[in-house]
Amino acid sequence: MSEEIVIVTGGSRGIGASVCRKLAANGRKVLVNFAQNAGAADKLVGEIRAAGGSAVAIQGDVGKEADVLNLFSEADRLGTLTGLVNNAGVVDLSRRVDEMSLERLTRMFSINVFGSFLCAREAVRRMSTRHGGKGGTIVNLGSAASKLGSPNQYVDYAAAKGAIDTMTVGLALEVAQEGIRVNAVRPGIIDTEIHASGGAPDRVAELQSRLPMKRAGSAEEVADAIVWLMSDLSSYTTGAILDVSGGRAILP
Ligand code: NAP
Repeated sequence: MSEEIVIVTGGSRGIGASVCRKLAANGRKVLVNFAQNAGAADKLVGEIRAAGGSAVAIQGDVGKEADVLNLFSEADRLGTLTGLVNNAGVVDLSRRVDEMSLERLTRMFSINVFGSFLCAREAVRRMSTRHGGKGGTIVNLGSAASKLGSPNQYVDYAAAKGAIDTMTVGLALEVAQEGIRVNAVRPGIIDTEIHASGGAPDRVAELQSRLPMKRAGSAEEVADAIVWLMSDLSSYTTGAILDVSGGRAILP
């Protein structure tokens, strides 16, 4: 019998890496996708295997359709796809909208929105009972930014995550009768390297005292919610957008 596989995009660092560790600890075979940092992906795969889990690292930029197709063909080679965590995401340097180039907007939407759509498309083609699949689960990574708008920082990122909220609801309803559940987790301020990649390495420390719980969240705390949504424990949950933000931006 073909082994069941779960793909975690951007699974090599931060929230994605924690999801990979937890899914593997629960006995799932994990395909750890990454874009550039092969060292981090290989290290994580080694760690998972040493703990008795099963994982494979696959390079691929989710913003490039050819890479997405290759990622899913690798999954086909390794087993039967039963889950996707659409986790890969990027921010950019703080800019006002009147300073944003088309190049920046293209990267922002290609990775955060088109990448999630392309991966969801490939997952549905494999998992939907309509296409002969055996069902599965998709979890998308949104952000509290979709409600805050992120003015003077990255309205483009916030808008891209708004698209993820809407995609989650629409796709969930589209495939509800086809054995696939689609949900999203919407993190608040989480202590990962994403802030440094947006030119704000001290963001967590600076914001901490203004957060409702007076602290940022950890990658593990977000991963626990994702793993629940990926499991049968959430079997009647679909189209849900779960705020894992310590109370930040919980009001509409
Ligand atoms: P992170 O620490 O910066 O890690 C990003 C991961 O995504 C890395 O594994 C990276 O791989 C990969 N990646 C980047 N661009 C990619 C691409 N084009 N194709 C495939 N993989 C790519 O990020 P994080 O903080 O864990 O964030 C994970 C998700 O949560 C994102 O969608 C983010 O928007 C969302 N989120 C995060 C926060 C937060 O405060 N951290 C808050 C709200 C939402 P390489 O190492 O190879 O580049």
